[in-house]
Amino acid sequence: MDFILEVKDLHISFDTYAGEVKAVRGVDFHLRKGETLAIVGESGSGKSVTSKSIMRLIPDPPGRIVKGEVLFEGKDLVKLREKEMQTIRGSEISMIFQDPMTSLNPTMTVGKQIVEGLVKHQRLGKIEAKQRALELLKLVGIPNPEIRVNQYPHQFSGGMRQRVVIAVALACNPKVLIADEPTTALDVTIQAQILDLMKDLQKQMDTAIIIITHDLGVVANIAQRVAVMYAGNIIETGTVDEIFYQPKHPYTWGLLASMPKLHTKKGELVAIAGTPPDLVSPPLGCSFAPRCPYVMEVCVSYMPDYKKSSRTQYAACWLQDERAPKIEPPWEAAG
Ligand code: SF4
Ligand code: MG
Repeated sequence: MDFILEVKDLHISFDTYAGEVKAVRGVDFHLRKGETLAIVGESGSGKSVTSKSIMRLIPDPPGRIVKGEVLFEGKDLVKLREKEMQTIRGSEISMIFQDPMTSLNPTMTVGKQIVEGLVKHQRLGKIEAKQRALELLKLVGIPNPEIRVNQYPHQFSGGMRQRVVIAVALACNPKVLIADEPTTALDVTIQAQILDLMKDLQKQMDTAIIIITHDLGVVANIAQRVAVMYAGNIIETGTVDEIFYQPKHPYTWGLLASMPKLHTKKGELVAIAGTPPDLVSPPLGCSFAPRCPYVMEVCVSYMPDYKKSSRTQYAACWLQDERAPKIEPPWEAAG
């Protein structure tokens, strides 16, 4: 089989006092060996929840996977017992988060944190593991690893700490790395260095990466494919070129228009007006309808199906229907 990871019809809800929040509502995507998929969308679109559910890190209660499959090498992770999941988490699938301090243990030297994973998952001896920890710190570009290996997280700068987190995440040579806003907390120069590092390591280790971000600049830098999420659904997916140069969904148009430089006329930024819908009672039809400048009657009552516009690009929008008026994206085409 071609896919290392396949998510099928995933539904995730959270029980709250206001009612059942349907945070993820039928998400499908796949990931091939060694590729990078970006999941983009505003906060609350369900992108982090989706990625956490792959690792089974949704707090239950209040959260739960209502239905769907997460197939890792053909095995459904949703059905695994917690004990089996522990052998996969951190070893076959690893995750890094926005704030490196939350993934590192402040009371343990960074060397020890890397060694722990190696002893637990790879069954290396202490001396071997320590040797490997040194190699990993060198690999992620930390100077003087012999000294750094015995230091604590607070002795590292933000950028260096994120390098440590990457070293911990990659220690066991995972097949999938999930990175949730891995560079958001860092300044721009460091951001670029961390993305370059991830690309480098991916080439060396053939890891597949899912990167969760709201930053289209990050997407352009690192991903081959993009899934755009809105209100708990993937509303459009395609290659990076398709999404940047031939986007089909008005929400994707809005995201691109709100991005500095690339698609804006005369340098102006256009934020998407309005707010995402309440996911306790999501709209009957297209979830973007209340904010969409092109909304038609049909959009309000009927959810649009996915329409294919190439082998790799799909969008869920009634404008893709043959009977809909032809509308051009609201900017001068790039490229
Ligand atoms: Fe806009 Fe209708 Fe397309 Fe939804 S289906 S994005 S409301 S045009
Ligand atoms: Mg998030």
